[in-house]
Amino acid sequence: MMKKLMTIMALLLAVVIFGGCANTKENSKTTTDPAGAKELAILTSFYPMYVATINVTKDIAGIRVTNMTNPQTGCLHNYQMTPQDLITLEAADIFVMNGAGMEASIEDMVAMQKNLKIIEAGKGIELLKNKDGEDNPHVWVSVSNAITQAQNISEQLALFDTTNAAQYRANAATYVAKLEALRTKMHTSLDTLQNRNIVTFHEAFPYFAQEFNFTIAAVISQEPDTPMTATELKEIIAVVEKLQVKALFAEPQYSSKAAQTVASATGAKIYELDPGVTGQTDAGAYNGYIDIMTSNLTILMEALG
Ligand SMILES: [Zn+2]
Repeated sequence: MMKKLMTIMALLLAVVIFGGCANTKENSKTTTDPAGAKELAILTSFYPMYVATINVTKDIAGIRVTNMTNPQTGCLHNYQMTPQDLITLEAADIFVMNGAGMEASIEDMVAMQKNLKIIEAGKGIELLKNKDGEDNPHVWVSVSNAITQAQNISEQLALFDTTNAAQYRANAATYVAKLEALRTKMHTSLDTLQNRNIVTFHEAFPYFAQEFNFTIAAVISQEPDTPMTATELKEIIAVVEKLQVKALFAEPQYSSKAAQTVASATGAKIYELDPGVTGQTDAGAYNGYIDIMTSNLTILMEALG
C-alpha cells in the first residue's frame, strides 16, 4: 500500500516538473475544431477499448479518440503509469476502460480526475474467476462480450454527449452486425471440431473457450511475468499426455519458453492465438479485433481440425 502511494507521489511530482513544458496543442483540453466547437477528448485504457471506441465514434465530427498506453503494451496487469500517461489522462473528457480489474494498477490515478467521465465497457458482463479466485478481466476475447462492450460504450457515450447519441447508436449497430457475422462464421467452423481440449497461456482465453465450447485443459503460467516451477511444468506435461492434447496455444505478446518445454516433452505442437491486446492505431484498427479473431479461427482449424 505504501509502495503504491509512493508511486503516485512520484508520478504527480514528475507531472509538476515536466507538465509545465508539455502543454502542447495535443494535450490541451480546449482544442477547437475548424468549426469552432470544442473537441471531445475520449481516452481509452488499452487496445481492445481503443478498437471498440473508434468504431462507435466513427466519422463523428469533433471527437478525438486516443489510446493512453502504447498500442503494443498488451494487457495492463501491473502496468505502471508514466508521467505522459497522467498528462494525457488530465486532458481527457471521457475515459473508456474495460473494468473487471484490468485497470486496477491505474484506478487510483483515474479516480483523482474529478471532472473525468468514466465508461466501463465491461459493465454487466458476468465474470469468470481465475484459479486464484480473482475476477478474470479478459472478457472481450469472447465475441459476445465484445458486442456487449461496444453497446455499453455507445449507450454511455450517448448519455454523456446527447448531441451525437443517434450517431453513436447507429455506429454501434453497424459494428455489432459485423461482430455477429464473425461469431456466426466462427461457430460454423469451430462447432465441427471433435477435439475440444486446449492448453493456453496466461488467463486470456476462458471467455473465448466458454463461448465456443472448448475445454481449457491447462493454463501454462497464470501471468507472463511469473515463471513456472518445475512441479507446475510436470503437472501440465501429465495433463497434456493424459488428454492427448495436440496443440498448445501461445500468445504473440508473451514468450513461449514454457510452451517449448511442454512441447518437446509431449510432442504437442505450438500455435499462436492472439487475445487482441496489441495492434496499430491506423485506419486498419477499425477491423483490428475482427481481423485478429479471423486469424485465430484459421489457426484453430489448422491445429485441431
Ligand atoms: Zn492478460
